[in-house]
Amino acid sequence: MPDAMTDARSQALLRAFPHAAILIDGDGNVAAHNEEAQKLHPLIRTEAPLTFAIRDPELLGTVRRTLADGQTRRFEVIERLPVERAFAVQVAPAGDDCVLVVFDDLTAGRKLERMRVDFIANASHELRTPLASLLGFVETLRGPAKDDAAAREQFLSIMDIQARRMARLIDDLLSLSRIELNAHIRPMDRVDLVGVIRQVADALKPLATERNLTFQLEIEPHTADVSGDRDELLRVFDNLVENAIKYGSRGKRIDIGLTRTANGDYTASVRDYGPGIAPEHLPRLTERFYRVDVAASRDAGGTGLGLALVKHIINRHRGQLHIESRLNEGTNFRIALSAHDAV
Ligand code: ADP
Repeated sequence: MPDAMTDARSQALLRAFPHAAILIDGDGNVAAHNEEAQKLHPLIRTEAPLTFAIRDPELLGTVRRTLADGQTRRFEVIERLPVERAFAVQVAPAGDDCVLVVFDDLTAGRKLERMRVDFIANASHELRTPLASLLGFVETLRGPAKDDAAAREQFLSIMDIQARRMARLIDDLLSLSRIELNAHIRPMDRVDLVGVIRQVADALKPLATERNLTFQLEIEPHTADVSGDRDELLRVFDNLVENAIKYGSRGKRIDIGLTRTANGDYTASVRDYGPGIAPEHLPRLTERFYRVDVAASRDAGGTGLGLALVKHIINRHRGQLHIESRLNEGTNFRIALSAHDAV
């Protein structure tokens, strides 16, 4: 049985502990617990029986057994409500006839693991489709179409498109992983957004003209120096303007704007007057491989990674990305970045 002195020390120790932890005395009462444990088991009270706060029979049984034989035990608990969470629980003797129960939250790690597995499955699937088509055409060119010059030309041009799609996908995947690797390092070069936006608009003008679209540039400041990485910011605007061309073409006009905000930062926007995006898709739009319409994205040569790249780059720049869209009216992507002098 711990005395008042050891009780106070136990409380202090548990408070400093990063995981939820409960010290239980030989009578099965809570001798000490920390705030994390309180969050996990809101009914827990010091000096009250553990059974008041916890009902899990496996946990209670393990505590009883460890109190009796002093053996350390480990097991996993999965809580389903209100949200699914997994814990590695350790029940160990802690002196004075007490046992210490520690809950190590595995949820975040599990979620990351699942995301990683999903990501690899998605990436493999995206690569397999064009690869299967390439292999199919190679076979046809070797066999049935061997001496058919017209078919050969047609197949080679399809193969060219598929191979380029794979190259684009790999390029986007590599960029994503590079940006993620450096996510914690804020890029600090002085980059003029006016120059970046004009460069992107100039580069994409031929594609826009081809689709019978016009750009309307509304650039207020002469220069707009932000802290950043020029290539990455070029990529952001390149993706947004290209998306506006690919998906927003019904509108015939794309507005590209840049303003200085009252607090001296900069807001850039790319707005199209196309079909818009239904509200239920908006929260997931920047997830890797998420597309509103998979076939339309593939037909347009999309990889499904463009907006994921945009989001990661903007996060690394400690900026903000807002997406507003209304069905049949169009979509507006807004990006806020800090001025170079302010950083
Ligand atoms: P993709 O390579 O498919 O274009 P993105 O990550 O750039 O991938 O975009 C994800 C999805 O968001 C697209 O497939 C499309 O469904 C939707 N989307 C992006 N931009 C627009 C836009 N301007 N108008 C309508 N839908 C858009």
